[in-house]
Amino acid sequence: MPGNLSFDDLKSRVSTGEIDTVLTCFTDMQGRLMGKRFHAVNFVESSFKETHCCNYLLATDLEMATPDGYAATSWRKGYGDYIMAPDLSTIRLIPWLEGTVMVLCDILDHHTHAPVPHDPRAMLKRQVVRLGELGFDAMMATELEFFLFEKSFDDIRKGGYRDLTPLSGMNEDYNIFQTTKEEHVMRPIRNHLFAAGLPIENSKGEAETGQEELNIRYASALDCADHHSIAKQGVKEIAWQNGHAASFLPKWHHDKVGSSSHVHQSLWKDGDPAFYDESDALGMSQLMKHYMAGLIHYAPDYTFFLAPYVNSYKRFAKGTFAPTKTVWSVDNRTAGFRLCGEGTKGVRVECRIGGSDLNPYLAQAAMLAAGIRGIEDQMELAPPTRGDIYDAKNAQDIPQTLRAATETLRNSAFLREAMGDDVVDHYTRNAEWEQEEFDRVVTDWEIARGFERA
Ligand code: ADP
Repeated sequence: MPGNLSFDDLKSRVSTGEIDTVLTCFTDMQGRLMGKRFHAVNFVESSFKETHCCNYLLATDLEMATPDGYAATSWRKGYGDYIMAPDLSTIRLIPWLEGTVMVLCDILDHHTHAPVPHDPRAMLKRQVVRLGELGFDAMMATELEFFLFEKSFDDIRKGGYRDLTPLSGMNEDYNIFQTTKEEHVMRPIRNHLFAAGLPIENSKGEAETGQEELNIRYASALDCADHHSIAKQGVKEIAWQNGHAASFLPKWHHDKVGSSSHVHQSLWKDGDPAFYDESDALGMSQLMKHYMAGLIHYAPDYTFFLAPYVNSYKRFAKGTFAPTKTVWSVDNRTAGFRLCGEGTKGVRVECRIGGSDLNPYLAQAAMLAAGIRGIEDQMELAPPTRGDIYDAKNAQDIPQTLRAATETLRNSAFLREAMGDDVVDHYTRNAEWEQEEFDRVVTDWEIARGFERA
């Protein structure tokens, strides 16, 4: 891709003055890019080897609070440093910011230089290695859905998040005229991200007012997660540059459809699609059936990694294209798992459970772990479910609240085995904290309902 740079390429662009800024970034638990802005001369001379950050960055929440209860770090431990180790294979131009490139970093222990196990990128790498040991590569694509609003983040915040007017006023699902109204934002998003080395396929209007979807061509699991984090950052920044807010909150109003992040998955062996078997009626190999059986069986265990906030669970509503059941179906958008590309080499499974707020590294790590377990245990795939799955009988529900998903995560023997107790305990604490923060707040709804009537 045109925007990907080698380190030598970067050095020569720094020497001509074309590049003066290097963003060194990693993705935190919430899926946000965190890091520093280096003068490019300093980066190519020394900081390309490593830089540092406070280790609270993998133990905080959206508001940068410092909750207790994490074994990895705390006030008692003095909130020391992590090493940020630039992965020089990820250097890329950031064309929407003048003179700027970005490099993604791995997080290492300050003293031992070992990967930090709860670093989302390390968690995904761990599962990719496990899959490699079985002889397979994972190819993934995450769809990014989001809403564009008339006003900017700053204006909306100053207005107390009351005046949330989407950019276009009508359901814009596949609608060219409605999305033309958003082209002053979407065209630079597509073109800048493409020029940053992301294989952008398309954008399209989604099934609500002001709702867009961005599709990026499938890639190896790690590249896919890298692409997703950079694309999300780019969408927000380019919308901001144009005076608008782009929000990935999964459900910003109870009467509106939510935003999701569907994850397409296939396994490959030596460059050939290992999910394909031309002799099967749907073109599904035995490997694919085992993978999907694991994916579906363990979905409640890893739902937290697809839906990490209280708000995420408001999306799972009947009749909204967001699923409520962990079953699979053939090209059916009411199921948690949809078979796509059936009968072709492109046969793949799309997980529809994840919201637009998912962290792509965590979501993919958890789903790969489930698929690997399915393969290892040669799990049997149940037949597909048909029809309107919102009303399906005897189908396993997706955990319906963050509270429920926290317990399925905490008690998941499979995830503890695949990811380690320390990692599962860390994210269980993350989930608990989110619920604790919500529980202590009195909401507008409670006041309006009970103030006079109670
Ligand atoms: P949808 O109807 O869900 O929008 P698309 O045909 O647009 O489906 O494909 C969605 C995503 O699936 C795209 O990002 C595409 O790159 C990805 N995709 C296509 N083939 C594969 C595959 N074999 N494995 C993983 N992802 C794939």
